[in-house]
Amino acid sequence: KDTNFIRNICTIAHIDHGKTTFVDRILELTKAVDLRQMHEQFLDQMDIERERGITIKASPVKVIYNYTGQEYEINIIDTPGHVDFSYEVSRSMAACEGAVLIVDASQGVEAQTVAHAYLAVDNDLDIIPVINKIDLPNANIEETATEIISLLGVKKDEILKISAKTGQGVKEVLDAIIERVRPPKGDPNKPLKALIFDAKYDKYRGIVVYVRIFDGTVKVGDKILIMSTNQQYEVSEVGIFTPDMKPTDVLGPGEVGYIIAGIKEIGHAKVGDTITSATNPVAEPLPGYREIKPMVFASIFPGLPEYFEELKKALEKLKLNDWALTFEPTRSPALGFGFRCGFLGLLHMDVVRERLEREFEIAVILTAPNVEYKVVLRNGETIFVNDPAKFPDEGEIEKVYEPFVKLSIITPTDYVGDIYTILQNERRATLLHTENAGKNRVVMYFKAPLAEIITDFFDRLKAVSRGYASMDYEFLGYEESDVVKITILVNKEPVDALSTVVHKSKAYQVAKKLVEKLSELIPRHQFEIPIQAKAFGRIIARADIKALRKDVLAKCYGGDVTRKMKLLEKQKEGKKRLREIGKVTIPQEAFLAILRID
Ligand code: GDP
Repeated sequence: KDTNFIRNICTIAHIDHGKTTFVDRILELTKAVDLRQMHEQFLDQMDIERERGITIKASPVKVIYNYTGQEYEINIIDTPGHVDFSYEVSRSMAACEGAVLIVDASQGVEAQTVAHAYLAVDNDLDIIPVINKIDLPNANIEETATEIISLLGVKKDEILKISAKTGQGVKEVLDAIIERVRPPKGDPNKPLKALIFDAKYDKYRGIVVYVRIFDGTVKVGDKILIMSTNQQYEVSEVGIFTPDMKPTDVLGPGEVGYIIAGIKEIGHAKVGDTITSATNPVAEPLPGYREIKPMVFASIFPGLPEYFEELKKALEKLKLNDWALTFEPTRSPALGFGFRCGFLGLLHMDVVRERLEREFEIAVILTAPNVEYKVVLRNGETIFVNDPAKFPDEGEIEKVYEPFVKLSIITPTDYVGDIYTILQNERRATLLHTENAGKNRVVMYFKAPLAEIITDFFDRLKAVSRGYASMDYEFLGYEESDVVKITILVNKEPVDALSTVVHKSKAYQVAKKLVEKLSELIPRHQFEIPIQAKAFGRIIARADIKALRKDVLAKCYGGDVTRKMKLLEKQKEGKKRLREIGKVTIPQEAFLAILRID
């Protein structure tokens, strides 16, 4: 196949700027699928994605476009629009030569527009800037154009203006893809070199690996090798996306398609890895492969203990098509058996929880999210701790390091002051620099501890900017930090699931808020329950839950004082006993409450 007639592009945009609608219009224009079928199949994504208006993974699609009498094959790869998945965005881009950057004319350039645009520049893509939603009455085309020009340094007449809704201007984007994006290069006679840019688990066919071929060819019966794991497989099917999977004889240089080869687990075909021929392997894999590690951790417990086995099975199933999810068994004295899980970010965590509840119908308790601390112990050992319950005692610790991120926030200039104040004063962040992005807009770059971003920061940012600011972040590395573990004691017993690790400067404030909140959420019992927060080797905050008071006095109407006294004495004794043997019922909300404390 002549690669001059192939174009590989990805679509990039901030969430809701119209990427899905744009691709729908292209499918319609090129008659790739009929509309009814399209809505049944192409848009048949997970409920959660649809409801939240986010795309985690959409299928790639190949369309045929007739440009001045010549048929071109255009492969369109969708990229996830959210920060949690930015590594996957970058790998999807590595499978392309071009990118269509879509910006909503009523919103302008936002944080993920900037983040994605920079990734596209880093990946050396030919970028086609597109302003979408020009049909909207509040479309601000001029200002959006100015923002795009200052972002990409393009000329004004290079920017296309479309309405993905009405279809206006969409054909011109297809023309621009042919004219401005360079065709892929590759040699069919060289050994196979293919990039895995996505993978999914199919109930009937096992793991389907999405690939872009750079050199060589691949067909049924070929022996292939996945380079990072050094595992060999035999190819049972290759094909293209129409967007349904359609088998073909062979995939060659420049092409985008899929490979099925009896791979059992999605973790064995990771995004970013290179596939080569097992009999004639290339020496070097494609650049850019990185082991992806979860950044946010939380424990998941079944709502009822007898659901433990079901929870385990559900997590195993989820793992088949969610390679970034990690889990291992854990046990909490308060909540019983559960799993300590690792997620890419908060959104990822939320999606997993919702899928457990909706697809598997298991009610779960999710503990407060944490980052992973690197702790150097006095005995010279270095450990990684992502569970506050396992955080070592202060006496054992030499140094603690915590993960930092580079946070980029794009906001109208009006809110710069407030955002700066929140980050600098409340979130231990430092401003790195700011950049203008159009007339009334600024990109602010901060260095911030990830722990400060995974609490309720996104909500705070939205509130303070009336919804206008948007954010993105990337991992920078570990830095030394002054953190301390707060242990919560309920009725004098430590409840590990309620522990938290915070910066020392916030310990008192967080401890106070925590005990107060817990004392509101834990119902009264027959006995008094002290809720205490311990840190720095002592109790630093306390709140008491008063005992339910049986109205003993009412029973001895007007009886003599000594009888009253005796009864009170008895009840006091009873209280003591109860306190010793008593078990406090802690409602689930109490565990969830810490999610909202900061
Ligand atoms: P995505 O998150 O980038 O995939 O965005 P979607 O394609 O789901 O679009 C987000 C919302 O914007 C949907 O409600 C679309 O109907 C709407 N939308 C997309 N393109 C246009 C457009 O050109 N004009 C108008 N008025 N609405 C649009």
